[in-house]
Amino acid sequence: MRFTITTAIDYPNSRPHIGTAFEKIGADVQARFRRMEGFDVHFLMGNDENTIKVSQRAEELGVEPKSYVDDMARQFREVWKALEISHDDFIQTSEERHHRGCQAFIQKVYDAGDIDKRAYKALYCDGCEEFKTAKDLVDGRCPNHPNRPLREVEEENYFFRLSAFADRLLAHYEAHPDFIQPESRRNEIVSLVKSGLQDVSISRKGFTWGIPVPFDPEQTIYVWFDALLNYITAIGYGTDEGRFASLWPADVHVIGKDITRFHCALWPAMLMSAGLPLPRQVFGHGFVYIKGEKISKSLGNVVEPMDLIAGFSAEAFRFYFMGQCPFGGDGEFSFERFTDVYNAGLANNLGNLYSRTLSMAVRYFGGDLGGASAVDATAWHAGLDRRALVDDLRGLVGTFQYAAAIGRIWADVLDAANRYIQTTEPFKLAKTDLAACKAVLVNLAEAIRAIAILIKPFLPATAATFYRAFNFADVAPWEGVSYADVLARPAVDALRVTAPLVSGKPAPLFPKIETKPA
Ligand SMILES: [Zn+2]
Repeated sequence: MRFTITTAIDYPNSRPHIGTAFEKIGADVQARFRRMEGFDVHFLMGNDENTIKVSQRAEELGVEPKSYVDDMARQFREVWKALEISHDDFIQTSEERHHRGCQAFIQKVYDAGDIDKRAYKALYCDGCEEFKTAKDLVDGRCPNHPNRPLREVEEENYFFRLSAFADRLLAHYEAHPDFIQPESRRNEIVSLVKSGLQDVSISRKGFTWGIPVPFDPEQTIYVWFDALLNYITAIGYGTDEGRFASLWPADVHVIGKDITRFHCALWPAMLMSAGLPLPRQVFGHGFVYIKGEKISKSLGNVVEPMDLIAGFSAEAFRFYFMGQCPFGGDGEFSFERFTDVYNAGLANNLGNLYSRTLSMAVRYFGGDLGGASAVDATAWHAGLDRRALVDDLRGLVGTFQYAAAIGRIWADVLDAANRYIQTTEPFKLAKTDLAACKAVLVNLAEAIRAIAILIKPFLPATAATFYRAFNFADVAPWEGVSYADVLARPAVDALRVTAPLVSGKPAPLFPKIETKPA
């Protein structure tokens, strides 16, 4: 079973901000979850380099565009690595494989009769790198770049006959209700296409940075037509047809809600023209706002992922954005809220459950929990139907409902484990009934094993730490552990604490952040 997942490719004219990271983490959770479900996952990311802004920025810096984009790609990859993004490939659209694939594709669409040359005159936003029609504008200005004047541009370029595809697109949406998700985006796109599609300009004249049009080398392929093709050129279109056939169509394109229309109208029409299968789904995620405003360089409210990773941890970053910002909707970020969520969810709850259980196992039994009697793997979650829980969580994670899944794990599973400590009081049993105390700790270790599996797509490093802390690694090789393993019975006799200890105590995983008094 193959699962191909992609994210949008990013402009490398500035470093990634937390909003960009939100998308990559969301896609990463899905990729990790699918691997757990037994899929052979191919996870693609990349940078969108063939833009006018890139060549302008390189010129400002006095460097060649290629060395500029290579350096930016290195910086992007560093951030993605720090955030534990598990992509399998990272395409830079300045690469040879992309150039060759793009040229093969545009030739195919040209031969199909869907591209022709026309005079074009319209208002152009340099910020968006796209032409604007009257209905795109707010008070005569670009809503994304209100401080940048629009330019009137007139030139001859190539057009893709997008208008000819409206009926086929609508028929596809109708026949494939899951093609556009979530539902709100689907409704938006259906009404957009019903209101009529205009042909789109797909080339520019006189640029040296970019991909030449093969049937007219004076023109270069223009932003969207070029960028969207990364999804197929990266996996071999035009260069390695066998590989392409094994990885296409994509199962899901994960993208921001602002570019849904390019992915749901232009992209499928391009593929239809070239005679290629369409991706199975386009998921348009929401945005992260700061005090109600969109994150943007021009607003000066950019928060860099590396600052949060250095101040807290990559795991805390993932936990906040996946738990607090519904992936299909919108979320808010503030340092105050981030600190509160970290302290409540990670330091006081998850981290504390782990440290208490480990500490008691070390203090009362020297870390050896083998040979326990009266063990009941279900004792810690009395009243919780584990099978139903796992089914629900698989449904939620598989449909990108991450905040709901995390909410469910914390509310049902963690609360059950914490309640179990309160009702059994193993710290008191240690003085009166050591055998009963050991049974409770084994049951708590079982709770931690289940939690480790459930949080694995969201908090991969924490999950691995939990799994190894009690020597669960002997029970199953961690990388192969799936959601279904939550239901498996652990081998109790192998349980012993293998976590590193500092002065006989486990090092805190999520040290509490002291908030300054107001
Ligand atoms: Zn704009």
